[in-house]
Amino acid sequence: KYMTSDEIREAYLKFFETKGHKRLPSASLIPDDPQLMFTVAGMVPFKPIFWGKVDPIYPRVTTCQKCVRTNDIENVGRTPRHHTFFEMLGNFSFGDYFKKEAIAWAWEFVTKVLEMPEEKLWVTIYEYDDESFEIWKSIGVPEYKIIRMGKEDNFWGPAGPTGPCGPCSEIHYDTGIEVPVKDGGTPNPGNTDGRFIEIWNLVFTEFYQDEEGKLHPLPRKNIDTGAGLERISAMMQGVLWNFDTDLFKPIIDTIQNVLNVKYKEDPKKDVSIRVIADHVRAVTFMIGDGVLPSNEGRGYVLRRVLRRALRHGALLGAKEPFLYKIVDSVVKKMGHVYPEIVEKQSFVETIIKAEEQKFITNLSRGLELVQKIVSASGKISAEDAFKLYDTYGFPIDILRDIAQENNYELDEAGFEKYLQQQRERSRKAQGEVEFAQKTGYETLDLETVFVGYDTMESESTVLKIK
Ligand code: ATP
Ligand code: MG
Ligand code: MG
Ligand code: MG
Repeated sequence: KYMTSDEIREAYLKFFETKGHKRLPSASLIPDDPQLMFTVAGMVPFKPIFWGKVDPIYPRVTTCQKCVRTNDIENVGRTPRHHTFFEMLGNFSFGDYFKKEAIAWAWEFVTKVLEMPEEKLWVTIYEYDDESFEIWKSIGVPEYKIIRMGKEDNFWGPAGPTGPCGPCSEIHYDTGIEVPVKDGGTPNPGNTDGRFIEIWNLVFTEFYQDEEGKLHPLPRKNIDTGAGLERISAMMQGVLWNFDTDLFKPIIDTIQNVLNVKYKEDPKKDVSIRVIADHVRAVTFMIGDGVLPSNEGRGYVLRRVLRRALRHGALLGAKEPFLYKIVDSVVKKMGHVYPEIVEKQSFVETIIKAEEQKFITNLSRGLELVQKIVSASGKISAEDAFKLYDTYGFPIDILRDIAQENNYELDEAGFEKYLQQQRERSRKAQGEVEFAQKTGYETLDLETVFVGYDTMESESTVLKIK
């Protein structure tokens, strides 16, 4: 059965309303949580409830949450199903229903509402979670299709040394087609770049992990589920690539017009088109939620994503600002669900255009320099990488892309060392400024003293908070 992304989103939220859930709007991409850079999953806004710090108003909630993850950025455009920005459908139970209902309803939604063919569906469980095994079996999933997986994949640890945690169970769709596996491994449920695609994760928060790592049953068990709208849309529309769904079509059409390129003519160009299509959504929503480009924290993530998109634009021949012209297609496609981007559209466009103008000269000069460097030595040394970062504002992602595309060597570890040294210099310089200010000796120019530094943190660790 064919369904549009709007129909799927609405069907999901309606379905869980009929199961007693309160439908809540998406929270901001900026979480009210110092541990997190962005909202990376549907459960993020409810973390205080899961942790028992706040009492829930509704025991059952369903949402479609906007999410940003940068841990998958290298995959974006190259795999059919990874994005920086995506929408996560979710249903949550705060000390109310548990595994039995969560599993049964997920199955009912997938097989009865979406009418996905049962023979295409597989599930994974945590290897010691016999309870889930029995539940899946009892609703009719054949035993051989219930795959037991280790801690790595199917157990959500606590954030830090102690806290709520528990096993999870995932639903995978067998596309029947071997999609190249990123790491060269064998495709199987659990390997999302192969033939099987993970569409839904059900997390059963049933334990509390203590200081010694021992698990204690929680008095109030919770359910946290997350299903990717883009992936489900692809399956429901009979396409392998999320980028071929109705969610991306108008955006890709606009990119083709603005940059005068054709999608699906040249695989290399297709990667660039998909990267731009992905990143324009991310930057639109980030700025829409109040993130501004800067050299640290969230602002630097935004800048990295934006500059990465601009580099791919350059690969497609863009010589002047273009990204801001694509924002309109994002707003037209998604504004009815997320009115904030309608309201902020012209602001978003202004910010993006300003960033583009600022970076455009450096980008072309920097790319020329890269060309010179690699034609001379065939690799990008730590010094060169740092120069490109420091003088031309090249985030390391861009160099990583270039290195990956052309099989150049890139000394990232060495680059990190330079970055570290620069941070120390800047800290020392800052100390001198403070000293100068304290002593009333203010001849130093702040502008020249504060060199940029970046404070990116890995989101994969952050994610495990689930
Ligand atoms: P994967 O193994 O494919 O990277 P995940 O296990 O990291 O996914 P979860 O944290 O379990 O993903 O998130 C729940 C659901 O959100 C996934 O089952 C998937 O449908 C969707 N999802 C996760 N990451 C992404 C992404 N980068 N882009 C698009 N959808 C995603
Ligand atoms: Mg992942
Ligand atoms: Mg996974
Ligand atoms: Mg998962």
